[in-house]
Amino acid sequence: MGLGSSTMRLIFIGPPGVGKGTQSALFASRMGIFTLSSGEIFRKEIEAQTDLGRLAQRYIQHGELVPNGVTIEMMAKRLREPEVRKKGFILDGFPRTIKQAEALEEILADLEMPLETVVSLEVNDQLIVDRLKDRLGCTKCGENYNSKSKPPTRDGFCDKCNSPLMVRSDDQPETIRERLRIFRENTADVVDYYDKAGLLKRVDSSRDPEQVYQDILTSIK
Ligand code: AMP
Repeated sequence: MGLGSSTMRLIFIGPPGVGKGTQSALFASRMGIFTLSSGEIFRKEIEAQTDLGRLAQRYIQHGELVPNGVTIEMMAKRLREPEVRKKGFILDGFPRTIKQAEALEEILADLEMPLETVVSLEVNDQLIVDRLKDRLGCTKCGENYNSKSKPPTRDGFCDKCNSPLMVRSDDQPETIRERLRIFRENTADVVDYYDKAGLLKRVDSSRDPEQVYQDILTSIK
């Protein structure tokens, strides 16, 4: 794979709060790779009050998974866009179930864009709860902050686009625990699935984002 080239086709997989969003943002800004975050797409649909947004919100507010059918359809549509085909992609938050992983395989086979590497980001649960309870996100561009470890320059506003920051409604301690439980119940199988397919690289994501970024680069070389 040509690093820095336009053809990377990666998945970042791991529990909520592990740093998938942070790492995809770094890869997007430094390497120009297109990132597709299923959670981010859902949040935009909710904000725009579309039918899909209304449906997704019913699940997201409880920390549950949105049904496979609509999720797969939504991601398939994005993956088929010419820009994604040209630039390559990082998937963040998709697939989260074996059904989604199987569907993704078919979609990518169809597009003749096989996956290159699946990066499993790994940390212990306590660190996740600690990180998520202080997480802030931009309401417009999706940039993530942390009131303790990565505060914005101007309190409450995004450094990049100046829009207001918010605490995600699903970052409440009870919803966090439910999301972690669901990760273990469904998405841990997806990690095994890619391990068996020989595509998986595991990266310790408890270190600072710059080190994790370097470790990911090393793992996909
Ligand atoms: P995230 O931003 O990746 O933590 O996703 C936020 C929420 O969106 C999740 O807790 C789920 O409710 C929903 N979601 C995101 N991606 C998926 C997916 N691949 N399958 C089902 N639900 C998803």
